Amino acid sequence: MENMDRLNAEWVSLNAFRGLSKIASQGDMVKSNYDNALQLGGAVYPELLGDDVSILKRERESDTAKEYKQKARLSSIRDSKVVEAIELLKKDISEYEGLLSIAEAERDSKQRVDQLKKKLGQLYKAKEEIEPEGHSENQLIFRDAYNVERVIPTLAEGKGYRDFELPNDKVMRLRVLHPDRIEHITGADLIYERHSPADEKVSIVAVQYKIWEKRLMYLSDERMLGQIEKMEKFLCSEGKCDSDAEDHGYRFPCCAAFLRPTDKLQKPDQAFMSTGEHLPICKIDGCKSRGQRGADVLEYKNMKNISLSSEMFEYLFNKGKIGSKEMSYSELSELYRDFLVETSSERVVIYAQEF
Ligand SMILES: [Zn+2]
Repeated sequence: MENMDRLNAEWVSLNAFRGLSKIASQGDMVKSNYDNALQLGGAVYPELLGDDVSILKRERESDTAKEYKQKARLSSIRDSKVVEAIELLKKDISEYEGLLSIAEAERDSKQRVDQLKKKLGQLYKAKEEIEPEGHSENQLIFRDAYNVERVIPTLAEGKGYRDFELPNDKVMRLRVLHPDRIEHITGADLIYERHSPADEKVSIVAVQYKIWEKRLMYLSDERMLGQIEKMEKFLCSEGKCDSDAEDHGYRFPCCAAFLRPTDKLQKPDQAFMSTGEHLPICKIDGCKSRGQRGADVLEYKNMKNISLSSEMFEYLFNKGKIGSKEMSYSELSELYRDFLVETSSERVVIYAQEF
C-alpha cells in the first residue's frame, strides 16, 4: 500500500501546515483553510506536497483540469511529442471566445449561449489551475519577506529557510526538516517559537500530529511512545510545565507540548476534515484507558474534557496563555540540543520562528 503511506504522510503534514497557518495568521479562516495550507506546504516542501507529486493536490483539481491533463498525456503518446495540457486548453478557450464574440455581435438575437459561457468559465478556471504562473508565489497566503536583517539563534543551522511577512508585521522564518524518504514519515511536528528579540526571550509551543482511526489511538507502538517521550522530555519535564510565580495575570500551566490526533483519510478525494483536539502531552497518561487485549488506548471521549479545540489552541497561544514560559536564548539552545535533527529522521518537522 505504497499510496496509502504517501496519502497518510501528505495528510498529516497538511494538517500541521494548517496548524502553522492558523497561528501565524492569528486564526484567519481563509488564510488557514486547507487549500491555502496545501499551497504553502507545496512551496516549502515540494517533494511531498508539490504540484506534480502530491496525491491530495491532484484530487483537489477541478474535473476540467483533470480532463485536460489526461488528454495531454494521451495526445503526447499519439503524436509522439510532448503535448502540454495548457496548449490544449488555450486552443479550446480561443474557440469558445471566438464563438461567443459572434453572439456578442448579434446581440439582438434571442438564441441562447448559456452552455457555452458556462463551459468557457470552467476552461478559465482550469487554466488558472494548470498554468505555472497560476501557482505563483504571490498566491501564497504569506508574502515573502526579503533582506531580513535581524539575527535570531537557531538550532537548525545550515538548513535552508524562507522568511515570510505576517499580517501582524512580524516575520516568520520557516524551515522544514524531514526524513529523506517519504515512506519513512510517521507523523508531523509543528514547532512554533515566538521571539521577543529585544530582550532575547522566546516562548515555544510544539504539536505532534499523529493519525488515528475511529477517534482511537493505540499507545502500544514503541516507536510512537518514543516520539511522545522525546517531546515530553523536550518540553514538559525538568519543570518546564510548572507555572511560574512571576507570571503576571492569568495563565494556564506551562505545558508547551501537545498531541493532535488527526482523523485518517480513507481516500484522497474525501472532504478534508479532522478532529482538532490538542491534548497536553503530559496529560496523556491521565486520559488513557484499556482497550482490546489490555493495550493502552487514547479515546476521544476520555480526552475531550482536557483537550483544546484548534480554535481555542490558536487563540490561547497567540494570547500568551499557553505555550512555554518565556525562556532565555541560552535556555533555548540547551533545550533543543539534538531534538530537531533526531526527530526529523522519522517525522516532518515544521519549524517556525516568529520575530
Ligand atoms: Zn506538559
